Amino acid sequence: MCEICRRHFIRGAAALGTSGLFSSPLTAQTPNAGTSRLPSRGEFTIANAYVMTMDAALGDIANASVHVRNGEIIAIGRDVSSAGERIDGTGTIVMPGLVETHWHMWNTIFRSFAGDKAEDGYFPTVARFGQQMTSDDIFQSTRLSAAEAINSGMTFVHSWCHNVRSLPHAEADLRALSEAGIRARHSCGWPQGLPDTQSADQAPIEALAKNWKSWSNEGLITLGMGWRGQFRVGPIKPEVYQPEFDNARKLGLPITVHVASAAHRAINQIEPLYKGHLLGKDVQLIHALTATPAELDMIKESGASVSVSPGSELRIGYGYPQISEMLAKHIPLGISVDTSALTGNSNLFGVLKLARDSENARAENEFKMSARQALELGTIEGARSMGIDDRVGSLKVGKRADLIMINPNALNMAVVTDPAHLVLEATTPENVDTVVVDGRILKRGGKLTALDTSEVISGARTALAGIRERTKWR
Ligand SMILES: [Zn+2]
Repeated sequence: MCEICRRHFIRGAAALGTSGLFSSPLTAQTPNAGTSRLPSRGEFTIANAYVMTMDAALGDIANASVHVRNGEIIAIGRDVSSAGERIDGTGTIVMPGLVETHWHMWNTIFRSFAGDKAEDGYFPTVARFGQQMTSDDIFQSTRLSAAEAINSGMTFVHSWCHNVRSLPHAEADLRALSEAGIRARHSCGWPQGLPDTQSADQAPIEALAKNWKSWSNEGLITLGMGWRGQFRVGPIKPEVYQPEFDNARKLGLPITVHVASAAHRAINQIEPLYKGHLLGKDVQLIHALTATPAELDMIKESGASVSVSPGSELRIGYGYPQISEMLAKHIPLGISVDTSALTGNSNLFGVLKLARDSENARAENEFKMSARQALELGTIEGARSMGIDDRVGSLKVGKRADLIMINPNALNMAVVTDPAHLVLEATTPENVDTVVVDGRILKRGGKLTALDTSEVISGARTALAGIRERTKWR
């Protein structure tokens, strides 16, 4: 988009945002305030579907039923009789909900805003306007993200919140996740614009940790720390980063950190973490694109997991993620959206397809990565990388009911051929008919049940208009 077109577009968008088409922003003030609007868990059976369990032993089961009661998978298979409400799954594909592993949901409000010139790029844009966000702006952005997540078949998201300007900013992110009813981790980070010479204020994360039960939405949401690490634009001093890391460990929280993106390819960033005892089972590394073979061994040895986001990594020019190399070393690996400011939409099926395609492109081999492997990264392997595979990520008796029903009876999915290839290569949010999180049906018949789509969109539009006004962003 040229600069003139861009300004024109922005003015148009601003006009839409102030046209009075929206309702007032929803401002819940207490923890778990949104839970009461969520549908009850109840009992139902999805009958006669093609079920992709993503469980190694169970595999795919045609003409199968899934019986769910009070949030738990009670029975699954061909000989399951219907109990509770019967949901006809004829002609549909049922599979676990997608597991997203790193997403700056707080900046979805800047969707597709990263421009074509250096000064309009992702980092300066997000830093400039992110510093003007109120807690309600965060709420609106995260709620928009959560609604899009559920609509497109994600049942778990990792809200990587690196714009915690105050405790209410973090609380706003949590309220939005709670109100949506999605399973999530909130990783509490630092405010945009914080100098690299200054440690992040630990008061917000400590306040959340102390009172976590009231924020966890009955255990659906867990808390972690979004850590700046040892390197951002340049090196960060130990007296700045070490107290942050130590505090996360003291609070017993998982830690997540961006590392080894292509901007500083010549500098090995993982080796110093390893040598400084800053890796472990409780640490998730984001990107790790330029990790050397020796550094991959260090990650493996430490037990750390990795999240890669080919949608943003390819878009911003970081290059290709090392998915095959990491899988070969059995490093726990998940796929992520990262940021809608770069990726436009957050359809994780599309990102998973990019993950498979980038592996095949690098190898110049049509068969390097299978469609099913890509879907595993988006379900059971992603869950393993987030430490939640004991509860979700596959469909199996005793697991929590996080599942989706895809209806391929549409122009972009007809007719059904190989299910794994079809699901990976053709699914769009419109094909996701039903989404269940912890036994609650949050999307049914193609419509969200707990969130009002027009309220979500108008709230985000109002928030963006406010940021534009405050920043004189024309
Ligand atoms: Zn990121």
